[in-house]
Amino acid sequence: MKSLDPLEFNQYIVNQAREVIIDYNLIKPKDKVAVGLSGGKDSVLTLYLLADLVDELDFELVAVSVDEGISGYRGEGINVARIIASKLDVELVEGSFKKEFGYTLDEIADLYQSACIPCGVFRRYLLNKISNELGADKLATGHNLDDEIQSFLMSFSKADFRRFSKFGPKLDRIHPKLVPRIKPLWKIPEKDVGIWAVMNGIDVHFAECPYSNTSLRAKVKNYLNQLESERQGTKISILKSFSKTFNFQKKEIIVGQCKQCGEASSLNICKACEMVEDIKNRLK
Ligand code: SF4
Ligand code: ZN
Repeated sequence: MKSLDPLEFNQYIVNQAREVIIDYNLIKPKDKVAVGLSGGKDSVLTLYLLADLVDELDFELVAVSVDEGISGYRGEGINVARIIASKLDVELVEGSFKKEFGYTLDEIADLYQSACIPCGVFRRYLLNKISNELGADKLATGHNLDDEIQSFLMSFSKADFRRFSKFGPKLDRIHPKLVPRIKPLWKIPEKDVGIWAVMNGIDVHFAECPYSNTSLRAKVKNYLNQLESERQGTKISILKSFSKTFNFQKKEIIVGQCKQCGEASSLNICKACEMVEDIKNRLK
């Protein structure tokens, strides 16, 4: 994308998302779609794009925000989420780690090598639980092209082949309590999402999470950005390579119910309940 003509650029963004939504059949008529809205640029763009398609594709939209409890950071994001949701006339439902699990992320961050470990487990759990309670048929996340290839390379480097089934723009329903995930920004590079927000004067929350540098993802991200700056097109090539190689064949995973909380889980006790137990033990 060389031209930065605002109209052309916006059209390019819309086309990329629309192509993914249509080609992969992400949304069906009468669906209720919940958007995970953090207030960051990716989730805000996702909400804008979907809000624009509501009438044409005939679906219902709702937004869900999760407050992890990261002081000096998340509060601002939640404020942005409230403003954007009200501007686009979309209902916003909020949840929090403290209310659901009894701890803010700040209170437990030091217990783990990276705060992203409990954060990821709790956020996925809560977004799914709230979306399910709202009767959502799909949960749209702001995962962009960069996020997707970072996750792919992280799983690849850890030989975590089970996770390969989670790649792709759409994760089908494999349990009545697991809301299928869709990723409308799947083909849009992170840089372009940032350009979209700045170019259109959208007031998004641009700050980086104070814990983000502790993660493996941050290292993979820096590595990929370095590669891309030396060889333009590397990121899209990686996305194409793994799309072709793995062809998104979903490995069959048997999902039951967590014996403790009743949410969907492939194990007897779900990851969130297991983590709460682990936190209690570490705090003893
Ligand atoms: Fe959570 Fe890590 Fe993301 Fe911060 S960077 S919001 S700790 S997953
Ligand atoms: Zn559980």
